[in-house]
Amino acid sequence: MIVTGGNRGIGRAIVERFLAGGHKVASLDMGGEPPEGALGFACNVTDGAQVDAAFAAAEEANGPVEVLVANAGITKDTLILRMGDAEWDAVINVNLTGAFRCAKRATKSMIRGRWGRIVFTGSVVGLYGSPGQVNYSASKAALVGVARSLTREVGSRGVTANVVAPGFIETDMTAVLSEEVIARYLASIPANRLGQPSEVAAAVAFLASEEAGFISGAVIPVDGGLGMGH
Ligand code: NDP
Repeated sequence: MIVTGGNRGIGRAIVERFLAGGHKVASLDMGGEPPEGALGFACNVTDGAQVDAAFAAAEEANGPVEVLVANAGITKDTLILRMGDAEWDAVINVNLTGAFRCAKRATKSMIRGRWGRIVFTGSVVGLYGSPGQVNYSASKAALVGVARSLTREVGSRGVTANVVAPGFIETDMTAVLSEEVIARYLASIPANRLGQPSEVAAAVAFLASEEAGFISGAVIPVDGGLGMGH
């Protein structure tokens, strides 16, 4: 299986979870090292040639990709009046186009093998919205369309495509938020706490399992109730 952005944060927890389950895991990331036991391949998901090369190397080592977790993501937050094309393009390129490239590459062998699991890391803000995140929430909402269209294209071949939608999870991405912003969010999270990367990994592991074969095109929240109804 392949996890993008698997060397840090939520992706790393996903890699660890799959390693613990005895799977052969490759992390495609730009920097850092994957957890011990996983293979690491340098890959910027905005570069199609790097994606192809990393998939080829991962497949040579581990065999055809049966599970893809398209998790690599970035934020470039600012209010729309200050948001330039650069902030928009950067976030769409990594979060949406990068996920598309990886899904396209993975789907080939999944169709051939008549079995596959694709999980996109979306976000609660994809459907809930968030001020200062027009680019980010658009990229995450679009992943729902990707997963649902993919489901209609390849659902009959034993391939599922789902979105896991984390709320506020304690990682480097949220470590940059001020205490004031976190306090404001906590007030709207029924669980009254931030989530842990391992809690997202548990949902991903389920979606990637044999038992989840009849779940596709779904958006599974892991957000302590923050986005209920969205
Ligand atoms: P982190 O910033 O901790 O980790 C992101 C990982 O993605 C890093 O390993 C990073 O690599 C990698 N990455 C970034 N850009 C690229 C790229 N172009 N090509 C390959 N790898 C890349 O983030 P999180 O773990 O918090 O987030 C993981 C996913 O979860 C993201 O998609 C994020 O949007 C989503 N999410 C996170 C939430 C949270 O509260 N933390 C909430 C909802 C969704 P490098 O180390 O080199 O930068």
